[in-house]
Amino acid sequence: MCTHPMIQGDNYGTTCMVCGEVLEGYGFWAEGSNSCHHKWIPEPDSKYEVCMYCEMTRPKGDNGES
Ligand SMILES: [Zn+2]
Ligand SMILES: [Zn+2]
Repeated sequence: MCTHPMIQGDNYGTTCMVCGEVLEGYGFWAEGSNSCHHKWIPEPDSKYEVCMYCEMTRPKGDNGES
């Protein structure tokens, strides 16, 4: 099992350089994933948080596994 010791990231996302797994967003250079691995950032003074890569929003506290 890879512990992802080498990670490359940019505005599109992050990718493990060892195993190639996309860890956040669409992966480094937007290569490696067609769907976003969301990274949720809480918006100040808002009930919502926004994905820093695709800018999707969701209510705070929703873990998406309902
Ligand atoms: Zn890895
Ligand atoms: Zn996203």
